Amino acid sequence: MQIIIARHSGVCFGVEKALETVNKYAGRSEKVYTLGSLIHNKQVVEKLEREGIHAIENLDRLDDGIVIVRSHGVAPEVYNKARDRGIQIVDATCPFVKKIQNKVKEYYNKGYQIIIIGDKDHPEVKGVNGWCDYSAIIVNGVQEAAAIGHFEKICVVAQTTITHRLWNDVNEVMENKGGEAVFFNTICNATHLRQQAAIELAVKVDAMIVIGGFHSSNTRKLYKLSKEICENTYQVETAADLPVDKLKNVNIVGVTAGASTPDWIIKEVVGRMSNEENANVVNQKEEINEEIKEERKVDIPENSTAIEESKAGAEENEATADDKETAAEQEETMDAMDDTMVSLKQGDTVKGKVIAVKDEEVVVSLGYKADGIITREELTGDPTLSPSDIVREGDEIEVFVKKLDDGEGNVLLSKKKVDVERGWAALDESFQAGSPVEGKVVEEVKGGLISIVNGIKGFIPASHIDVGYVENLAQFVDQVLPLKVIELNRRRGKLVLSRKVLLEEEREKRKQEVLNSINAGDRIRGEVKRLTGFGAFVDIGGIDGLIHISEISWNRIGHPSEVLNVGDEIEVEVLGVDPENERVSLGYKQTQPHPWDDVTNKYKVGEIVEGKIVRLVDFGAFVELETGIEGLVHVSQIAYHHVEKPQDELKENQMVKVKILDIKPEERRISLSIKEAAERPKKQDRKGKETLTVHTDDEPAITIGDLVGDILKEDNEE
Ligand code: SF4
Repeated sequence: MQIIIARHSGVCFGVEKALETVNKYAGRSEKVYTLGSLIHNKQVVEKLEREGIHAIENLDRLDDGIVIVRSHGVAPEVYNKARDRGIQIVDATCPFVKKIQNKVKEYYNKGYQIIIIGDKDHPEVKGVNGWCDYSAIIVNGVQEAAAIGHFEKICVVAQTTITHRLWNDVNEVMENKGGEAVFFNTICNATHLRQQAAIELAVKVDAMIVIGGFHSSNTRKLYKLSKEICENTYQVETAADLPVDKLKNVNIVGVTAGASTPDWIIKEVVGRMSNEENANVVNQKEEINEEIKEERKVDIPENSTAIEESKAGAEENEATADDKETAAEQEETMDAMDDTMVSLKQGDTVKGKVIAVKDEEVVVSLGYKADGIITREELTGDPTLSPSDIVREGDEIEVFVKKLDDGEGNVLLSKKKVDVERGWAALDESFQAGSPVEGKVVEEVKGGLISIVNGIKGFIPASHIDVGYVENLAQFVDQVLPLKVIELNRRRGKLVLSRKVLLEEEREKRKQEVLNSINAGDRIRGEVKRLTGFGAFVDIGGIDGLIHISEISWNRIGHPSEVLNVGDEIEVEVLGVDPENERVSLGYKQTQPHPWDDVTNKYKVGEIVEGKIVRLVDFGAFVELETGIEGLVHVSQIAYHHVEKPQDELKENQMVKVKILDIKPEERRISLSIKEAAERPKKQDRKGKETLTVHTDDEPAITIGDLVGDILKEDNEE
């Protein structure tokens, strides 16, 4: 069996302190009294009686002895009366009640009308009223509050055990009752916390044991709440009442106890169960105490002004060494509690520890008198995430205090708001610095995309998705994109993002890097991006360089597409860089083998080959022997007879046989002859004239006949 003791159960902090104080005086030789019944628990009262500590109603018939003031506290005249009569007072007033007394005294002295929300007959309220000379107006409902007059200054406090609903309702009325109004929510959540802890535990266990007096109303309430959740719920006053038979074969038993049940009774009950069933005991209450101790170590500065003030107050008391020790402990605790009570207010951002993660909410311990609740909606802006996706038990998180009381005593918190505030701050920083952010695209909307950046929704206009037009925006949904903030208005909640600007900036950066790193003659790789009539644009990593059409091929081409295609990955040679105008000239043909390189191996002088006439000019015809290799047939080499113009004999694209007369690879020149590739016509020998071929190495072969033939012809014909 496993036994789990609820994290909030048994006597509250204030009563526990009072019990500890009383125990120190048990068995003394002096007469020891408590002013009023210390606690509404039959077993405790009987035990104190046995130890010689009796409850009295007032000091009227007392002349000596020690009187312990219970946790409810008393009016100041009780201390005065005791001093006058030589009675020693041991003050076990709960620190929370002490705090109310101090506030009332302080504001009464400043001239405020004190208003106490609570029960005028409750001993705590009676005592508090004494700290303002019984001038307080005590209201216990909205109607009573509405009936009081208007005051220049009012100070409103609460009896520690009223409901938060009553506090809120009355305060709404009280806000109009004073020219200046101060409110101190002095409600103690001890009862509420016990009920909440019992409910949380009842869900997890097979049986619940509720310990407390059968006539204790708060214990009966715990029993009722537990029973509604766990059918096997039993109420016991002492260990003797345990339904041992019914607990056999039960795996997990939860234990809670009313606010008037001291620890020793809980221990007896748990001890009997664990003896019977050899059980393992988990005391959630002790875990909480450890947490509080740790928090105190960190939070309470030794030289705190509040501690000093409390110490000064303690010195005024005529107390024994033990009394002083008790007072100091209380002051320290009060200071710690006071610290949280004062510092936690609506609108604060504070740190807390996650103590429970449920399907629809997260419970956070703030070190405050009530735990905080973060609803699922206040946890995150992403509806697809559940609480367990975001936090785990034990996590320390920052939260925003939305409301100190949701009507049921819980502090309402928001993590989303903290995240959003942080998100805006980070976005603003990025906006100012021009630095990129990361955003997840969550949906496509009219005109663009919605992206979440730092928990904040931003709009990416369609024109800012990419540097070019994007047809299908949906392809980006669910993608995480680097983005740039281009417009931000925190007040209006406006956030506009751009991927395009970032891409352009990156491209510009790369472009400068490329321009600074390349030089004429470098060979680099690039991708053909665009073809035009005058050349091809090639992306060389951030910048587009141009290959002029004349630099694409060793041959003459009519259009770049004859050699290149968009998307081709090619090697190019840098022909020139103009950083000022951001222009780069490239050559493609330079990276290709030149056909002239081994022309002498392929062609020999005297050889007759076939070629195509690619161009006719006045002085001859250019004949392409193969791609990139052209030779010239001088006009004189076209035919044996005189040719006035090459066009008279030849046509472009005509295939002709030519004889190679000369090859000069270094000059990339080949001299060709059509006529020598053909048989000499017989009629040319008709007049027995001889022709003599003369030409230099540098020029196409030209005959003397070509030069003077016409003259001779004319002479001969005369
Ligand atoms: S104020 Fe709270 S802690 Fe103090 S005695 Fe009352 S219920 Fe207990």
